[in-house]
Amino acid sequence: MSSQQAPGRPVLPFWRRLLWGALAVSFITASSWLGFHLSENQGIASLRAESNHRLDLFASAVEGMVKRLEHVPATIQLSHDVLNLLRDPANPRRVQAADSYLRRLNAHVGSVSAFVLNDRGVVLASSNTDRADDSRVGEDVSFRPYFLEALSGRVGRHFAIGVRGEPGYFVSHPIRDGARVIGVAAIKISLEPIDQTWQMVGSPALLADANQVVIHSSQPGWRYTALVDLPVERRVDLLLTRMYNSMRIRPFPLSPLLWIGEDGQLVDSRGQAGPQQLMRSTSGGGMLVLSRPLDGMDWRVMMFLDLREVRTAAAFNGMMASVAAAFLLLLALFIAQRRRIQRQRLESRQLLERANAELEQKVATRTQDLTDANDRLRKEVADREQAEQTLRATQSELVHAAKMAVLGQLATGITHELTQPLGAIRTLSGNAIEFLKRGDMKTLSGNLGIIARLADQMGSIIHPLKGFARKSDPAPARTDVAVALGNALFLYGLRLRKEGIEVVNLCEPGAVTAWCDANRLEQVLINLVGNAIDAMANSPTKTLTLAADYEEADPDAGPPRWARIDVIDSGAGLDEKTLAHLFEPFFTTKTQGAGLGLGLAISRDIAREFGGDIEAHSRPDGGACFSLRLPAAASQETLTA
Ligand code: ADP
Repeated sequence: MSSQQAPGRPVLPFWRRLLWGALAVSFITASSWLGFHLSENQGIASLRAESNHRLDLFASAVEGMVKRLEHVPATIQLSHDVLNLLRDPANPRRVQAADSYLRRLNAHVGSVSAFVLNDRGVVLASSNTDRADDSRVGEDVSFRPYFLEALSGRVGRHFAIGVRGEPGYFVSHPIRDGARVIGVAAIKISLEPIDQTWQMVGSPALLADANQVVIHSSQPGWRYTALVDLPVERRVDLLLTRMYNSMRIRPFPLSPLLWIGEDGQLVDSRGQAGPQQLMRSTSGGGMLVLSRPLDGMDWRVMMFLDLREVRTAAAFNGMMASVAAAFLLLLALFIAQRRRIQRQRLESRQLLERANAELEQKVATRTQDLTDANDRLRKEVADREQAEQTLRATQSELVHAAKMAVLGQLATGITHELTQPLGAIRTLSGNAIEFLKRGDMKTLSGNLGIIARLADQMGSIIHPLKGFARKSDPAPARTDVAVALGNALFLYGLRLRKEGIEVVNLCEPGAVTAWCDANRLEQVLINLVGNAIDAMANSPTKTLTLAADYEEADPDAGPPRWARIDVIDSGAGLDEKTLAHLFEPFFTTKTQGAGLGLGLAISRDIAREFGGDIEAHSRPDGGACFSLRLPAAASQETLTA
């Protein structure tokens, strides 16, 4: 398997998560702020649009009330009674006529009072002479700006509080006698009717004069307060002209986010001119201030709109915006998460496919390796089998060669064995001819019978040799150990007798049967018996003992497994060196020509070929013992059955 990491991105580091968290919080806060401000601006804009109309109506109403009588002073100069009075002020009849005129006029136009001043500012005639408390005649009002304005030839207009504390709008006009200003005509207009108009505004409103002092308001507390900080010289001026009588001008009660500039324009705290301005009230709710200058006057009307509702709605909208932003963030997070999971799945699949492909590649390589190894093994097996076959062939050759060598050794003995019968046959056959000539048929048939017996005897001598010399492939079968031992002893019969060896054969025919090839077993036994005879060549006692028995022959445990054949001699025995190399090919202690050193090596090979073995040891009382072990025929027959 590939050692690659599990797919997918690692978890974000803490600082990046913190950054993302801070960004999300900032986004939500910014959305909330934006929602609040947009909503607030929208609310203010619609409030302004709706209120502007009412303010216009209010301004028009005020204008109408104030300006309605503005032209009246100009008409006073046209009165002969007034002109005559100014020309002869000491004449009581003229004073009376002028007073009467003014009274009528005042009553007609509905002003508070109408009066005429001489060029020094003293009231000569008044509409109020019938009112003892407010006749005004003889009063010096030369300090009033409306007198000074008119004296200098202009129309004077301003608000002022009268000496008896009654506020009003004063309008004055110069009275000329030719080009010279000989007096001043003035009227005082009441502002009380404005109180009727507050209702149409519907919100707190005020009327401010040229000094930015509130001269009328729907809020009684705002009256005679200054919208701006009045400079000292202005205050002195106001005291001197007694514009507001002895009234103390207090600062406007709302905090000054707005003020009026020198030119009378409403400006905001940044100094920018504007028709309206936000204002923070002392209650902290916030107010929208709408302002209008009155046409042709330096007065202005102002309207104060409470923004609490707008702010509440904006706060709600800001909250909704933050909720929407949070929802959007969650949605984005969800989509990102989904995409991440899909990407991870894809990566996992790709990784798995890659790992699979790698695995398949490896399996294919291994399989190829195994196939190659298998092919090599098969070839080796074939080579081994070939070598084994060659070995077997060689072994057969060697066995045959060894047999031939034994036969060669036996040739002398057999020749000797056959010489006597042959000689006897020649003699008897010569005699037979003689007896035939003589017609002695009885003796002849006796001789011929002897010849026949001798021929049988010779045949029996030669017969085993024929089987022995035959070259054959091994074929395992039930083999009587006693028969094989008998054949081997027969071959060495002459030598045994010649060398005076006593043979003790403890093996009864049919007592022990082994599972092997009879020819090969004979070969092994011939070799062992031959070696034993050689070993006893110089021994004082010469005894060859042959024994055979079963091993593990426990009747309760089933048939015996092994057949054991012991070839025991009374020769020199086996020293350590001989024991160590006994079964090695070409190991021999015999003189050159006497032995090849192959007998025991081949014999062990043959025994192992049938599943058995050969072991050798020196006997304590002298001599050697060679034990040949082969599978018992009974056990093999049970297996193959
Ligand atoms: P070879 O008979 O041609 O020498 P073998 O393989 O048959 O070859 O025997 C090898 C050697 O083992 C013999 O040369 C001999 O020294 C020793 N040997 C074999 N049998 C006996 C025995 N019965 N007693 C003592 N030595 C033996």
